[in-house]
Amino acid sequence: MKLIKFSIFIRLLIIQYLSVLCVSEDFDFFYFVQQWPGSYCDTKHSCCYPRTGKPAADFGIHGLWPQNKDGSYPQNCNRDSSLDEDQISDLTSSLHKDWPSLSCPSSTGFRFWSHEWEKHGTCAESEEIDQHGYFEAALKLKEKANLLQALKSAGIKPDDEFYDLGSIKEAIREATGFTPGIECNTDASRNSQIYQVFMCADISGSEFIECPVQPKRRCESKVQFPEF
Ligand code: 5GP
Ligand code: 5GP
Repeated sequence: MKLIKFSIFIRLLIIQYLSVLCVSEDFDFFYFVQQWPGSYCDTKHSCCYPRTGKPAADFGIHGLWPQNKDGSYPQNCNRDSSLDEDQISDLTSSLHKDWPSLSCPSSTGFRFWSHEWEKHGTCAESEEIDQHGYFEAALKLKEKANLLQALKSAGIKPDDEFYDLGSIKEAIREATGFTPGIECNTDASRNSQIYQVFMCADISGSEFIECPVQPKRRCESKVQFPEF
């Protein structure tokens, strides 16, 4: 009798383990990464405006990247899945505005979105997050964070001035409740400038969380916020 109960218990344990394996995602959280267009464009590689014209002077989405707590991350999780324009047709006007592509040659943005879907989005794909859900989640996070407004409220503007890295992080924490990671690059005169802002989101892609690990990116203690 004891042996039967024990074997039932073991079977239940195995079933529970398998069900967790099936529904759980293969990553711990998302990095939600936004880029400052002025800092993408004033570097040595320069930039090309999208075919739809010069984007607004606002942070643009770079990507929503599945990430693990140990610093590793999955990529290109489904070579058979490419972005289908029809799946995101109701989002394209928002994507043009909030997720413009600045690389050369000029494009509509679809190539950038496809690249991000294939490299990162496929690793987040689940019943809840399909192509539409993935891009919609990123657009909603951008709206929630409103980085430019957060910085402006603290007197930090894209005016080519230098600002304290600490006060940039503090302004974003004050407005959003979460401390961002900041990545810098250098302009043609080798000034350190704010390039990308990393925030973290839960695996549903709907809520910001405190970053389990900060991305290892370096900035000087004073960084320029270039005009765009
Ligand atoms: P870079 O070398 O410019 O920092 O990154 C190149 C590309 O690698 C990024 O555009 C992104 O797709 C990917 N990548 C870089 N760092 C990370 C990271 O910490 N997490 C994830 N998930 N992807 C990253
Ligand atoms: P990462 O997200 O893999 O993996 O790297 C970004 C890739 O998207 C690069 O191949 C880059 O040339 C392309 N790309 C197209 N538009 C943009 C843009 O506006 N910003 C950045 N960072 N990359 C872009």
